[in-house]
Formats: sequence, C-alpha cells, structure tokens
Amino acid sequence: MKIIMLGAPGAGKGTQAKMIAEKYQIPHVSTGDIFRANIKNGTELGMEAKKYMDQGLLVPDELTVKILLDRVAQADCGQGYVLDGFPRTIPQAEVLDEALNKLGEQIDYAINVDVPDENIVKRMSGRRACLKCGATFHLEHVPPKAEGICDSCGSELVLRDDDKAETVQNRLRVYHEQTQPLIEFYTGKGILKTVDGTVDMQDVFAAITAILG
Ligand code: AMP
Repeated sequence: MKIIMLGAPGAGKGTQAKMIAEKYQIPHVSTGDIFRANIKNGTELGMEAKKYMDQGLLVPDELTVKILLDRVAQADCGQGYVLDGFPRTIPQAEVLDEALNKLGEQIDYAINVDVPDENIVKRMSGRRACLKCGATFHLEHVPPKAEGICDSCGSELVLRDDDKAETVQNRLRVYHEQTQPLIEFYTGKGILKTVDGTVDMQDVFAAITAILG
C-alpha cells in the first residue's frame, strides 16, 4: 500500500504517518526527517537544505526529488510506504507519478489531514523537539515526563527554528501557494480522502483506518 499524507505543516500528518506505518507495517518516509538527519550529520545536502528550512521555505525540487526517489527504491519500501511531507509541489508529484508509472505502480491513497490555519499557529508554538534522537512533544498534547527533557534519550528539548512563529507564517503561506494545489491534483486522480484533523489524534487515526481498511 502506497500512501501520501497531505496537510498544512503542523496538521498532525507526521504523527498519523507514524501510526499508519506501525499498523500496516510499512516504512514511514519523511523528507523533513531525511533533511534533518543530514543537517545533524553535517552533510553537504544538509547544509544546503538548512538554508531554506530555517526560513520556512521549500528545499528546491532538484534536491528533494532525488533523495525521495533513492529512499523509496530501497528494499524495505517494496511492500509500500507512507510518504510524509512529500510531494509538496505539483512538479514533485509529477516526478513521483512518472517514476511509479515506469514500474507499473501507483499511489493508492492521498490522505488530506484538514486543519484551519488558526489552529496550526497555536499548535506549532507548543511543539518541542529533541535534536538528538528526533522525538517530538507538545506542551499541551504530548508533554514530556520531565519539563524540557526528552523522554527517549534525556537530551534537552527545543523549539525548532522552523516551528518559530514567523517561520510558521511563512510555512503556511508556502503551503497555500505550493502544496495545496496537490489536493486538486489527487482529487483528479480519484484517490484523495480528507479527514478532519482538528479532533483527538486517536479519532483522526480511526477515520484514516476506516479508509485504508
Ligand atoms: P517537515 O518536517 O515535513 O515539516 O519539513 C521541514 C522542512 O523541510 C520544510 O519546511 C521544508 O523546508 C523542507 N522539506 C521537507 N520536505 C520537503 C519537500 N517535499 N519539498 C521541499 N522542501 C521540503
């Protein structure tokens, strides 16, 4: 099963993608995570991507498409995958489509986790992340056991640069301009399913599993 998660930054698609990956035993592929791992390891790709990420801008398609296609070509993606944060532009979606077509494959579902902008801004300012192990928390919804400390590895939690208020506004603007058109794109392919992302995360997941079966 090949699934794409759509939704504004902070809509909770990453959380849902992880839950889907676990239930359906398919890899969770997040381009944001791949970029962050590269930044942490100080790779050339990471340094280049960081320039855009810190401003809430999209990393150029040339860089993004290649890392994604390399990732889904790996053996563990043979039975499918859930894409989180890719595609984010129509050209990215088209390249993915072409690559899959060549293999005689296709995306089965594009799941749109729908949350209004005003909820997003509130949610993202409460996010906290562990830069060491990648775990994420939320001051209101998923608080760490000890304030400011990662439950998984004990490192300090921070508000990621790309979750800061000004960056969030930029990310929302970029989302509406460049990513939202994908809703129409996948509607046209007959695979778009929209779920209400404002409800409790378990209820969002129940709506998704009702679709996926
Ligand atoms: P995420 O963790 O998915 O919210 O991604 C964090 C940041 O990584 C985004 O704000 C972008 O700067 C960059 N990024 C992640 N995925 C993509 C993509 N498919 N295309 C362009 N930039 C991306």
